Amino acid sequence: TRRETYADAVKPSVCPFCGVGCQTEVSVKGNDIIKVDGRQGPANRGKLCVKGRFGMDYVMSPERLTRPLIRRSDVPKDAHARMTFSDISDVFREASWEEAMALAAGGFNTVRDRDGGHAIAGFGSAKGTNEEAYLFQKYIRQGFGTNNVDHCTRLCHASSVAALMEGVGSGAVSAPFTAADDSDCIMVIGARPEQNHPVAATYLKQAAKRGANLMVFDPRRQGLMRHATHPVVFKPGTDVPMLNAMIHTIIFEKLYDIQYIQANTEGFEALKEKVKDFSPEAMAEMCGVEAEYLRELARTFARSSKSIIFWGMGISQHVHGTDNARCLIALSLITGQIGRPGTGLHPLRGQNNVQGASDAGLIPMVYPNYKSVEDPDIRGKYEDAWGRSLDPAKGLTVVEIMGEVEAGNIKAMYVQGENPAMSDPDQNHARKALATLEHLVVQDIFLTETAWFADVILPASAQPEKPGTYTNSNRQVQLALPVRQPPGEARQDWEIMVDMARRSGLDWNYSGVGEVYTEMAAHMSSLDNISWNRLEREGMVCYPAKTEDGPGEEIIFYSGFPTESGRAKLVPTDLVPPDELPDDAFPMVLTTGRMLEHWHTGAMTRRATHLNAQESEAVVSMHPKDIGRRGLTRGQQVVVETRRGEVTLTLRADRDVTQGMLFIPFCFVEAPANFLTNPQLDPFGKIPEFKFSAARIRSAGAA
Ligand code: SF4
Repeated sequence: TRRETYADAVKPSVCPFCGVGCQTEVSVKGNDIIKVDGRQGPANRGKLCVKGRFGMDYVMSPERLTRPLIRRSDVPKDAHARMTFSDISDVFREASWEEAMALAAGGFNTVRDRDGGHAIAGFGSAKGTNEEAYLFQKYIRQGFGTNNVDHCTRLCHASSVAALMEGVGSGAVSAPFTAADDSDCIMVIGARPEQNHPVAATYLKQAAKRGANLMVFDPRRQGLMRHATHPVVFKPGTDVPMLNAMIHTIIFEKLYDIQYIQANTEGFEALKEKVKDFSPEAMAEMCGVEAEYLRELARTFARSSKSIIFWGMGISQHVHGTDNARCLIALSLITGQIGRPGTGLHPLRGQNNVQGASDAGLIPMVYPNYKSVEDPDIRGKYEDAWGRSLDPAKGLTVVEIMGEVEAGNIKAMYVQGENPAMSDPDQNHARKALATLEHLVVQDIFLTETAWFADVILPASAQPEKPGTYTNSNRQVQLALPVRQPPGEARQDWEIMVDMARRSGLDWNYSGVGEVYTEMAAHMSSLDNISWNRLEREGMVCYPAKTEDGPGEEIIFYSGFPTESGRAKLVPTDLVPPDELPDDAFPMVLTTGRMLEHWHTGAMTRRATHLNAQESEAVVSMHPKDIGRRGLTRGQQVVVETRRGEVTLTLRADRDVTQGMLFIPFCFVEAPANFLTNPQLDPFGKIPEFKFSAARIRSAGAA
């Protein structure tokens, strides 16, 4: 073809964006990526969305970091508020790797020796490889004797994982999104897969087209509702009463699967007692959904022979996020809609490797494979393997770490590929905290908003430049090899971490990424029978894999659950309102999220030419009737304000946004939505309530 003759090579890879994990083939000319096509991967079957197909030129951005940078001693950390890339030399000077690494590791060693390891924390990345995640948490734990290591799972599905671990003994999906091929009823709640998991959305639409019931629950209308048999627009923050009303219907209309419940679960009587008061009639007004419709939804889900649930951050990012997920688990269990083809529980994972990074132990409470740091036997095994005494207590989570930084108790941070100066809630506090750090090392490919606060910046590799494995939302472990070289003096992340560890006194000697994988897999029974050699041969293996050559198990929980009793736990939930309800001063509900063209904080996609051309302006979306009622005009500049701060952006009319609500994507550095969001945490998953803040809006310039 013309492309093949024009390109120097066409190389296999994996998409670096969302958790779908589409396999790609990348056409390269010289060191440039000139085209990306879909491969026949198990997750994408040849398809790609706009991000995977047209968003890869971020790796060739002139804003890539190519040399280590050290902060100029006379530039205070709060002086960069309006800096742009062209100001880089005013704030930082270029340095050799030797000087930068000595300063980076030396700063951590100084704090450790003076204040102890608990004065240090690390944010690893869900965008990097499994091997990088493993090495990062090992460096923080082994090098500094603290479990203060976390990553962005805390901001996306930590509450889902908490509920899944408690309920079914595993934090991963029970079935892939392609299980929708076999489903009669698909429930999508708190997720907008057309925007955030577009290739996964195609399976849901195809299922609806062949006649499956598609129930789409969202406080905002969305495109997937056009394909739905049952669109459900409900009041924000009322997931628990709505889902409990469905559970009530199933139990009191005796639509449950008693044989499944008796053989596989515990806690049914307590659940029945709890939902007694949650009749659809009692909950309808609170949820904004008619009682009879709630009953129909429950009946459809329970009576279908194969029902599956997909959910996203609309479920998890609440102070009652764990309770929301507990309700979904209960719905699935009491109807026996799990452990068979076409059934199951699937939290749609946001980043390309958030599943893998979590599995690899980039979490403050657990070592790899979710093994508790508080269990002395497990800790003893790691102490033997790593030759150091380890912290016996859970570490702090993302938002807790920023609180301790602000309080002066954490003095040094290592941030690899994360961007808390955009992603954390209540940015006035988060950025103030970053500015107070005595020592901040940022390892990234761009000068992110977080990097502006750094003392040392280490230029790293983009996904298409590094070797390693990624685990997608479906538990499919996929190997990707480099398709281009990192620019300038940028180095492989894993090599930087090994260098850091050695300079912190650790005896790390890895010959390559394969050796790191092998060490990691030895700690993780989930990776049994998935060797590096096998991944080199097959490219992808789904875990768990029972044999060294057979396929992995895409659907789990055929018989029993990996809990102590072997049974799944039904956990009753109660009403917990959003932390901050609208009032006269802040009468609207602000919700935040992502958009099709931009991925998370926008560090990559805002630098992707075509994607940024599509959506280049910071916007707040509002229903046209609300716009008219407030005397505003679409396209004008407005100020959105909450009790924590304000941002100025362009007003967009959007009928999908329910009246009384505002929606702001969190990818725009010009107007960071997280200056507005509420840092209040779900008590179990420690996830902030990004999806619900009381807010107000006014014309820019008006008092
Ligand atoms: Fe990449 Fe996700 Fe789009 Fe697939 S659906 S191409 S993994 S962003």
